Amino acid sequence: MKRREALAVRVGPLTIGGGAPVCVQSMTNTDPHDLKATVEQIQRLAAAGCELVRVAVPDFEAARLLKKIKQAVAVPLVADIHFDYRLALAALEAGVDKLRLNPGNIGSKERVAAVVAAAGERGVPIRIGVNAGSLPRAVLEKHGGPTPAAMAEAALDQVRFMEDLGFTALVVSVKASDVRRTVEAYRLVARACPYPLHLGLTEAGLPERGLIHSSLAIGLLLVEGIGDTIRVSLTGDPEAEVRAAYEILRAMELRARGPPVIACPTCGRCQIDLARLATEVSRLARAYEEPWVIAVMGCVVNGPGEARHADLGVAGGRGEGLIFRRGRPVRKVKEEDLLAALAEEMAALAAEARTDRSPGKTEEGE
Ligand code: SF4
Repeated sequence: MKRREALAVRVGPLTIGGGAPVCVQSMTNTDPHDLKATVEQIQRLAAAGCELVRVAVPDFEAARLLKKIKQAVAVPLVADIHFDYRLALAALEAGVDKLRLNPGNIGSKERVAAVVAAAGERGVPIRIGVNAGSLPRAVLEKHGGPTPAAMAEAALDQVRFMEDLGFTALVVSVKASDVRRTVEAYRLVARACPYPLHLGLTEAGLPERGLIHSSLAIGLLLVEGIGDTIRVSLTGDPEAEVRAAYEILRAMELRARGPPVIACPTCGRCQIDLARLATEVSRLARAYEEPWVIAVMGCVVNGPGEARHADLGVAGGRGEGLIFRRGRPVRKVKEEDLLAALAEEMAALAAEARTDRSPGKTEEGE
């Protein structure tokens, strides 16, 4: 798929746009005044592969804490600012790598100009983050509501204002809570400016809804080559957002991280607790970054075939499972021992991969 050519924007050590891989971001949901909880969540997000973490900055205490958070984590940080431009100035002072401003509520142009000047001095980029639910009143009146054209106009007005100030380290987002408006608004912005785009739905909801609607919106845009960084907004643990983002990128064949676990839907032939086994295997697989395929299959009808084509597979039987590694059956294990056996096999695959990466070296020699 041909990607839209966006300008490159540096965010600390990360590049967004400019042909860089689509990067994955998320947002903490801990109390931003709770340093320990916030740092721990950022570290968990980074371990899950999150490349950029946004933190809400509701007041000056939270802005001041950003400095300590920055000192404790390596992943670049984005300060999420609404309403008070002075919070943006304080976040810059604290050393954040990027700002997110909402043009619908950040106030007068003079205030935005003060933030732009401070960000420019520090080489910190700004995301113009438009939400359909908080568009400037004049734009809403002109368009008769939060239409895709209104969302795009709110973003592009702010883009032009910042460009007039000589500031071009910009990322843009135009999020609604539904797929159609979101996709149309991004298409408009993609055609009208050269900046990288941050894709996502806003208020996407609980995973049952949020995963489907986000995948559709982000997937439809990515397939058109639009999008340089994604955030899958889900109500709940943000680590799930990171895993979902990589699954979307994997489905689009843009990026892969960790082994995909395929599993059969089960039917009346299945004689093991496959849903539980597949869930546990997925959890174990998160410890690995290699893109092996792991197949968890319920029975001998399709099981051995799928399991054989995977790097690691299991086909269920009556209270037992047959494990395949690299296409060969390696052992038959009782159901209660299957998870432990599959964990051993993953460790063996990882050891093989390490050996492959170090030609001429034994494992002991590494
Ligand atoms: S692999 Fe077996 S248990 Fe799973 S859906 Fe197919 S036939 Fe049913």
